[in-house]
Amino acid sequence: MTVKIFKPEACLLDEKLKYGYGIAVENGEIISVDESSRLIASYPNALLEEWPGLVLIPGAVNTHNHSFQSLLRGIAVDRPFLEWRDESLYKFSPKMRTVDIYAGALFAFTEMMKSGVTTVCDFFYLHNEGIESDEAVIQAATDAGIRLVLARTMYDWDGAPAGYVEDVSTAIFNTETLMKKYTGGMVRVLPAPHSLHAASPAMIKAGYNLARKYGTTYHIHVAEEPFEVEQVIKEHKMTPLTYLDSIGVVDESMVIIHGVWLNDLEIKLLGDKGGQLAYCPSSNMFLADGVTNIPAFLKYGVSIGLGSDGACSNNRISIFEEMRMVSILQKVHTLDALCVNYKDAFRMGTIGGGKALGLKIGKLEVGCKADFTGIDLRNLSMQPITAAGNQFLPNLVYSMQPTAIKNVAVNGRTTVRNGELQSISEKRVLEKIGQTMQHLEENL
Ligand SMILES: [Zn+2]
Repeated sequence: MTVKIFKPEACLLDEKLKYGYGIAVENGEIISVDESSRLIASYPNALLEEWPGLVLIPGAVNTHNHSFQSLLRGIAVDRPFLEWRDESLYKFSPKMRTVDIYAGALFAFTEMMKSGVTTVCDFFYLHNEGIESDEAVIQAATDAGIRLVLARTMYDWDGAPAGYVEDVSTAIFNTETLMKKYTGGMVRVLPAPHSLHAASPAMIKAGYNLARKYGTTYHIHVAEEPFEVEQVIKEHKMTPLTYLDSIGVVDESMVIIHGVWLNDLEIKLLGDKGGQLAYCPSSNMFLADGVTNIPAFLKYGVSIGLGSDGACSNNRISIFEEMRMVSILQKVHTLDALCVNYKDAFRMGTIGGGKALGLKIGKLEVGCKADFTGIDLRNLSMQPITAAGNQFLPNLVYSMQPTAIKNVAVNGRTTVRNGELQSISEKRVLEKIGQTMQHLEENL
């Protein structure tokens, strides 16, 4: 396989700007990080990928998204959670065909890739009986050129649209079929029992067991809204995480989504057991869920990744946006300007996400995947940057506008160049969205 050398103006290495550095890539992985001139001398036959004027940084990792929800953006905004759910999700998703699910995923993945995301975890639950819809999401990721972790949802609460629901044995069979089929490359599959309100204890245990069997993490929404906490206390006389621990599913394989309404003891329990958090600050604000106690998660050593959540509960799908949000939301909520700093936020949006997905991504290091974003060093939103470059990372987190995100590479392949999609035509993505929205409008 041919070696490719990425030669930007600078690389962000160990959170510092290093001018003249580049990265050599082979088979989608980083094989060397060094001064570009030395790389070119070491690999004289390598392909040269020049990124002039750009700083090469690790690609952002979106730890939690629901791709089909991109199609519901702008519908049922400014509503409480349950009203939002009934007026958007439950109303539209029964009308979505496989082609619509493909269109929604292609839309979500290309939009977020243009904003610097190189890996997305799609927490996908619109199965419509079987695995055809799941494979449509996988096809969309392949066509977009983004790295995908399909958190295949296991859902058996029958109050939801029928397309979400499977019985436990069907959910195990379908999830395991996909886990066995997609074992490497650009697509991985992991189990995702939906939540305590949408998955039975048997379903949650089944998801946990699949994760243990295949050595993956499993993802589950926990305590997003007070109603879930009240319901679990009423049914089990325990708070959500304590109950999950009582059924034996809290350990290092667990990644909880949201965790807004966990108490201090539950957060400590998660930390002690090695569990992780996928945090979606903008979505929590948009739906008026509340504010997760991030300082406590940090204090108890819980690893944190960031998620955009679905694009109809945010409504942006950018992880750089979430880096800024986690820091400023927590500061205003705790009245403590030191509680989350820009380095914490950047790590959550890169390597923290990689850890939650069990992938070697989010860092510019030999052996990690060659997933990069190229930032325009001279974009006004990145200024000022003095010779030592100390402002680069704080500006990336706090002031950068999307106009500064120029190039994106996934697995060593440049998928966005100068802000334009290279992997698929944007016109084609727009056509697919248009066709799907026409179908939905005509069939409501
Ligand atoms: Zn979610």
